[in-house]
Formats: sequence, C-alpha cells, structure tokens
Amino acid sequence: MKNQELGIKLIKWYEKHKRDLPWRHTTNPYHIWVSEIMLQQTRVEAVIPYYHRFIEALPSIEALSQASDDQLRKLWQGLGYYRRVTNMKQAAIQCCQFYNGELPSSYDQLLKLKGIGPYCASAIASFAFHLPHPVVDGNVIRVCSRLWCKDECYDTDKKKKQLAQELLQLMPMERCDLFNQAIMELGAMVCIPNGMPHCDKCPWQTSCKAYQQNKINEYPILKLAKSRKIEKYTVVILQCGEQIHFVKRSEEGLLSGLYQFDMLEGSHSLAQIKEHFQHYGIIEIKKLPDKRHIFTHKEWDLKAYWILTKTKDDGLWVHRQQYEKAYALASAFESYLNYITF
Ligand code: SF4
Repeated sequence: MKNQELGIKLIKWYEKHKRDLPWRHTTNPYHIWVSEIMLQQTRVEAVIPYYHRFIEALPSIEALSQASDDQLRKLWQGLGYYRRVTNMKQAAIQCCQFYNGELPSSYDQLLKLKGIGPYCASAIASFAFHLPHPVVDGNVIRVCSRLWCKDECYDTDKKKKQLAQELLQLMPMERCDLFNQAIMELGAMVCIPNGMPHCDKCPWQTSCKAYQQNKINEYPILKLAKSRKIEKYTVVILQCGEQIHFVKRSEEGLLSGLYQFDMLEGSHSLAQIKEHFQHYGIIEIKKLPDKRHIFTHKEWDLKAYWILTKTKDDGLWVHRQQYEKAYALASAFESYLNYITF
C-alpha cells in the first residue's frame, strides 16, 4: 500500500473509533494549547475536569498572562509538574507583547514561546492552523518503530525530527490535523505499550513489519532507564483545633511555591518527633502509614506523623475551608489530608 493511502486508511479508522474528548471539538489555538500542555505526563481522563475549569477561570491568553501564581497553582493542583503552568503564563505574556494576545500561527514562532517544544508546536500548528507538521510523542514513536521495524532509539530532538520528516510521507497534507490525532489515538488505544497491542483491531496490520515478522515485542527500542535517587523524609502534620500548619516551599526547585506540611530530612522515630515538636504541647500523636512518592528523577520515602497540639506559633495555620479555596498543596502530601480529624 502506498504511503498516502496508509495515512488515509488511518484517518478513516480514527473517524470511526476516536474517543469523544472536549479539545477535539475546537480549533481555538488557546484551548488546544491548554489541553496539550495538560496532557503531557497526565492521563486523558484526569485532564478533562482540569481543562474545563482552567478555560472557564482563564478564558483568554490575556487572562492567563495576568493570573496570579497562587491562582495558577490552585487551578493546576493535582496535575503535578507545575513548571508547565508557570511556563504557560510566561508564554502568554510573550503572546501579549508580540502577537496581540493570540498564539502565533507559524511553527517556528510557536517554538520560541516558553514551554512549547517541537511536539506541542506541531500539535497546535496542525490542530489549530492546519499546517503539516507531524507530531512525534511516545505513542507515535512506538507505532512507527513497529510499523517500520526501526532499530533506532528516538531519544533526541534530532532523531525525533528525522522521524517527523519520514511521517510526512504518510500525512495527507489537507488532513494533517486528523492524521496527527489519528496516529496518537492508534498509539494510545491499539498499538499500546507493555503487553500485547490489539493488532486485530489495527488499520495498519497488513503493512506493519513488526506484526508480519512476529517482532512486536522487540520494538520500540528503549533507552535503559536511569535508576532514581531515593531521599528519605519525615512528614509531620501539626493540627491545633481545626487548623493545620502549612509551610510554603521555596519559589525555586522541586514543587516550587506549593504548600506542604512540616517535613524533616531523614527517617525519624516517634520518640524523636515527640522531642522535636514538644514545644507546641502535644495532646496526641499518631504514626501514619509510610508512603513512597515518585518523581521523574527521584523518589521520596516518606514516614509520617500526625500531632494534635495545644498551641500554635506565628506560622501559617490554615482551616480546611481556607485550604480548599486558596492553598495549593503539593500532590505528594494530599493523601495525608484523609488523616486530619475535622
Ligand atoms: Fe502496532 Fe500491531 Fe498495528 Fe503493528 S499491527 S502498528 S504492532 S497495533
């Protein structure tokens, strides 16, 4: 089958089988941008409510450019990787300075905006402006590696660019947006990672080299993952009456600007924690279950305690209703809220 015919066959499959997702009903470049940034590192189902809430609260690029960092963190709370949204605000400011509060319609100009890389620029350029720029993400790499039995590890921008060039052979120019959506959908729903892809449902089965040669499990070629650094901490939830002690993290580095509970380096025993916090006057102390929180490059091994205190200090003590309205707690600590007794 000729390359373009393969592309058309994929689009026909997509039109019949695609999931109904809110950002697939729009060509608004801002909405597409928001959805694409949220979808990086986050599952589709989890993104949907965040997407609606974000667009409603910040309906334009100008509104995004003027949002406070606390509002952005609250809107993003639970999605993780906060740098994505702080970068979006910087890019929105660039759009207001140079493009009248709109996203530029050229791929190269999109790439110059903060936080927009080749994948995101291609997605916006094709979905919103119908420009033929193939998207290359993990799903697309997996599908292509299997389709063509590619003995290549696509771990650099240069190699991804080469793959994008090759994908142009398959992409029907006038339907570039649908082609990009379709190949990503194929990777997400049919040509899946970890385990057997659903080749019996795949529109490319008869052209797929890995399928024909029974080599599906050999592709894609993956780089060996680096082992993550493990750090140990002890989290302490201090409760006085109906208020909880919150600590704001530094504006720089991991989970920057988010809120957390008290946290000590290392793994501490009940006796050590009692001694450390005795100046508050301890009414009750409980050990909470241990927890592991995984980031891209490191893992936190967390021990945790809850303490009911007699007194407070001048720090930030927050009532639950205040917390829910205004304070973005880092997701590593969210599950501890279940242990708070009010
Ligand atoms: Fe992937 Fe199977 Fe389709 Fe090949 S035939 S592209 S391995 S789902």
